[in-house]
Amino acid sequence: MSSFKKGGIFILSSPSGAGKTTLVKKISRNKNFSISISHTTRKPRPNEKNGRDYYFVSKNYFRKLIKRNEFLEHAKVFENYYGSSKKKVIEKLKVGKNVIFDIDWQGTRQIRNQKLKYKLITIFILPPSKNELLKRLIKREKKNMRTVKKRMKEFKKDLSKWKEYDQIVVNDDLDKCYKKIIKIIKNVDKNKKNLKFINKHVKKLLT
Ligand code: ADP
Ligand code: 5GP
Repeated sequence: MSSFKKGGIFILSSPSGAGKTTLVKKISRNKNFSISISHTTRKPRPNEKNGRDYYFVSKNYFRKLIKRNEFLEHAKVFENYYGSSKKKVIEKLKVGKNVIFDIDWQGTRQIRNQKLKYKLITIFILPPSKNELLKRLIKREKKNMRTVKKRMKEFKKDLSKWKEYDQIVVNDDLDKCYKKIIKIIKNVDKNKKNLKFINKHVKKLLT
């Protein structure tokens, strides 16, 4: 990892529950990698800590941050607002750090459109199956079926954005998926997505 001299932007997106937060945390343990901690108006989950997982803020405060132009990107996702702090990200990039983002397709589009002078790689994570995704969501949301349903309702729409990403990876076995992402990040795996396989997998997810 230490071979990276200049800062880069690495974005992971996926339908909710596919595992991007878990993967982003694992990647951030590498030297010179740092997570962009987002602001959100969502309530914290029992195991989440303010300043570590998110900056949990009120809707009013979030609006103030938008007005003050403090976000690199922001979006409404599942009835809540989420945004990435411009100052913190740019500071890290300027000192040559690699910044990893766990953000949705709306935020990814906004960052892509800004054409920043840093390397940008976008990665879309797919679940192995819809059933496995549901299981992961139920486990994480501690059987709060209202939240699970809300997220599953967006599954198709979120999934449909995969084509906008540089690389697509299936998160079946966590370690294997992690290793694939590291290869992509290190630029060892420059191959454009395996479109035939991914198309087939997406079709399976939609049935
Ligand atoms: P996302 O950020 O994409 O919504 P999370 O990282 O929160 O997803 O993962 C959802 C749940 O699935 C968590 O409970 C996590 O521990 C679990 N999980 C993540 N990756 C795997 C995997 N490869 N196999 C089994 N469970 C996983
Ligand atoms: P969760 O509530 O599960 O933590 O996140 C819900 C969704 O919001 C996920 O798709 C996640 O990637 C996205 N998200 C988290 N932070 C941000 C952010 O700062 N900006 C955008 N656009 N999406 C975010």
